[in-house]
Amino acid sequence: MAFKLPEGFLSYYKEWEDKVGAFIEFADLRSEAVCPEGQTAPLSESEKKAPGALAGLPFAVKDNIAVEGMSLSCGSKLLQHLKAPYTATAVKKLLAAGAVPVGKTNLDEFGMGSSTDNSAIKQTNNPWDISRVSGGSSGGSAAAVAAGLVPFALGSDTGGSVRQPAAFCGVVGLKPSYGAVSRYGLVAYASSLEGIGVLADGVGRCRSVFSVIRGGDPLDQTSHDAPTAAPALEHQASGKAGKGTIGVLSPEAVAKAISSEIAGGQGEAGEAAALGAAAQAAELEDEVRRGFEFAKKGFADLGYTLVDVEIPSLKYGVPAYYTIATAEASANLARFDSVRYGARPDWAENPEDLIDKAREAGFGDEVKLRILLGTFVLRSGFQDRYYLRAQRIRAGIRRNFEALLGSSDYDGAENAAAGAAGGPAGKVDAILLPVFPTRAFGRGPTSLSPFAQKAADLYTCCANLAGLPALSFPAAVEGGLPVGVQLIGRAFAEGTLFDIAETWEQGHPIPHPAGYKAYWS
Ligand code: GLN
Repeated sequence: MAFKLPEGFLSYYKEWEDKVGAFIEFADLRSEAVCPEGQTAPLSESEKKAPGALAGLPFAVKDNIAVEGMSLSCGSKLLQHLKAPYTATAVKKLLAAGAVPVGKTNLDEFGMGSSTDNSAIKQTNNPWDISRVSGGSSGGSAAAVAAGLVPFALGSDTGGSVRQPAAFCGVVGLKPSYGAVSRYGLVAYASSLEGIGVLADGVGRCRSVFSVIRGGDPLDQTSHDAPTAAPALEHQASGKAGKGTIGVLSPEAVAKAISSEIAGGQGEAGEAAALGAAAQAAELEDEVRRGFEFAKKGFADLGYTLVDVEIPSLKYGVPAYYTIATAEASANLARFDSVRYGARPDWAENPEDLIDKAREAGFGDEVKLRILLGTFVLRSGFQDRYYLRAQRIRAGIRRNFEALLGSSDYDGAENAAAGAAGGPAGKVDAILLPVFPTRAFGRGPTSLSPFAQKAADLYTCCANLAGLPALSFPAAVEGGLPVGVQLIGRAFAEGTLFDIAETWEQGHPIPHPAGYKAYWS
C-alpha cells in the first residue's frame, strides 16, 4: 500500500495536529507506506486490481478498531501500549480497495463519552475553535477529517459517537444499520447497539466508503448483506430527490413529552429531578434551533413534503440506552484482566490481586462508573426492574420508528399483502431531527456536566436502540461553529439517506474551518 504525500502536506499536517491532537498514532512518514512529498507512489497490487474511488486515499481509524501492527489503545491507560495482532474486516475491505490506513485517532475511553475528554491518552480540540471539544467518542476521527488531514475516517457509534462529533466538527457522519458492517475487529463496548461508522468530507465520499465496508462477514454472526428489496445504495438520479416525504421530529414536542412525564408524577423520589434535568437537556441551544429550522425550510424549498412526526417512546430513550449499554459494557470489559495483554502493576500478591490492581489503575473514572452501573442493573433479582424494562422500551422505540419508516422485514413486506406480517413500506422516507442540543461545547465552566452530556444523547441513541441507519451532516454554521442535523431511515435504506443528504449538499457545500486546505479530491 502506498499513498503519495501531496506537495506541502507534511507541514500542513504538523501545524494542524499540534493544535488539534486528533491522532494517537500517525504513520511513520518515512516508512515505505508513505511516499515523500511530490514523489509518485507506485501502485500496489491491490490498488492496481481495484482502482476505485478510494484507491490511493489515506484514511484514519478510531483507536478501538484493529489494524495489525498499529495501536489499539481504546483511549485507555490499560491498553496504551497494545499493538493490534489482526485487522478489522472493515479495514481489510478498505485495504483491498486500495485505501491506506495512516493513523489511529483519539477517542473517549472505550467509546464512553461525548467529548473525547475521557481519553486517558491525550486531549483533542475542535478544528473550528481549539478551546472547544471535538465531540465524542469518535472526536479524533471527526477532527482529522474536519482539518483536512484525511478525506475520511472510521469511527464507531454505540449511542451517537459518529454523528455527534461529525456535527461538532462540520463533517458527514454515518451510523449504518445494525449488522450492515462487520464488527469484527471493533473492541466491544455495547455489542447490541454499536457498529463501525464513517466520517467523511462529503456525502459522496461517505457513500463510497460505506459501499466498500458493508456486507455480511462470517467472522461476525450479527452481520449480513442488505436485503435485495432494500433501496439501492448507488445514487438514484431519478429517485426521491425533491419528491420524497421527510418526517420532522420536533425537539419541542420531545421536551414537552419528558416534562409531562414529570407532571404524571408516578415515579420514585429523585426521578422527577432527573427527568427535569433531562427535559432541560433536550431543549436546543438557540443556534442549534436556528440551524434545524434552516434545514427544515431548505428541504421544503427543495420540494420535499415535510410532515410532523412523533416517536412517543423517545422520552425513555436515554435511560433505556444507558441501562442496556452499561449492562453490556460490564460484561464486555470483563475480558480486560491484563493477564495476556494490557498494563500490569509492578507487583501483585496473586493473580486475583494482579487483576484488581490492573483494572483499578488502568480504567478511568467514567469506565468504572459504567461497569458499576452495568453490574447494578444486572444484579440478581433486579433484572426485571431495570434491564428487562429497558428492553421493553427498546422494542417500543423500534415499533414507533417502524410505524413511520416501514418494517425492517423487507421480505415479509414483499410477500405479504399490505397490513399483513412484514407490514407495508413507511409513511415517510426519512426522519429529520437534531443531532445534539448544543454546538461543540467548551471546557471548564463552558462545558456540559457529565449528566447533561448523557441526557443530551436522546436524539442520537434512539437510532442505535432501533438498529436503524442515521446520517448526520452540516446544516449551517452559527456563531462560527457548525450545526449538524441527522436523517434516520428504514433499516438498510442508507441509499435513501445519502440521496436526500446529497440533494442538500448540492446547495449547501460542506463548510470548513479557517486554514483548511483541500488536499484530497
Ligand atoms: N455519548 C454516548 C455514550 O457515552 C455515545 C457513545 C458511543 O456512541 N460510543 O455512551
